[in-house]
Amino acid sequence: MYVGLSGGIGSGKSTIASMFAKLGAEVIDADSIAREVIAIGTPGLEQVVAAFGASILDASGGIDRGFLAQLVFADRTKLTTLEQIIHPLVISRLAEIRSAAPADAVVIYDTPLLVEKQMMPDFDAVVIVLAKTELRVERLIARGLNRTDISNRIANQATDDERTAAATFVIHNDGSLLEAEAQVAKVWSALTS
Ligand code: ATP
Repeated sequence: MYVGLSGGIGSGKSTIASMFAKLGAEVIDADSIAREVIAIGTPGLEQVVAAFGASILDASGGIDRGFLAQLVFADRTKLTTLEQIIHPLVISRLAEIRSAAPADAVVIYDTPLLVEKQMMPDFDAVVIVLAKTELRVERLIARGLNRTDISNRIANQATDDERTAAATFVIHNDGSLLEAEAQVAKVWSALTS
């Protein structure tokens, strides 16, 4: 079973993903995979350097992520180029991980852009984490992000209605961790029954 997990920034995706992992899910984090496929020593890194030049490397020979982010977010063509390099690498890495998982495993792909990129058909089920905007802002401020950045990111993401429409299961993460855990347990038993 292949399950997509998503939610807006600060909704608690990673928190919910670890709850599923504790119950036995194999969780794959999209951001980690995207970093892994262009890590030092990978063909992905070579492709990124071929496209953008060696100035995107830091002193250790890895990608200077801040610099690359500045570059691609200032220029849509560059962003597309980067996505065209990373996307197929991520897809083949995911295929590898999924084929290595036991047939009865519940593999959960935690990806922030599931709804924005309309990835719903890839999955057997989609779990969406929702939390009220004020709460998400509070949680993210506590994590050191600033209010303007948070508002910009929220404005650029899918809305809660769009996410709900894409969901097989919705987890409301506005309460305590225990309350979230109870909902995760219910979804888990539906997924594994
Ligand atoms: P991002 O979009 O930035 O990756 P995320 O959606 O993965 O964020 P988390 O990192 O899981 O969100 O949660 C954001 C913060 O809120 C974390 O510090 C986490 O510990 C806290 N948090 C998540 N859920 C709860 C909860 N139910 N009660 C209290 N704190 C929570």
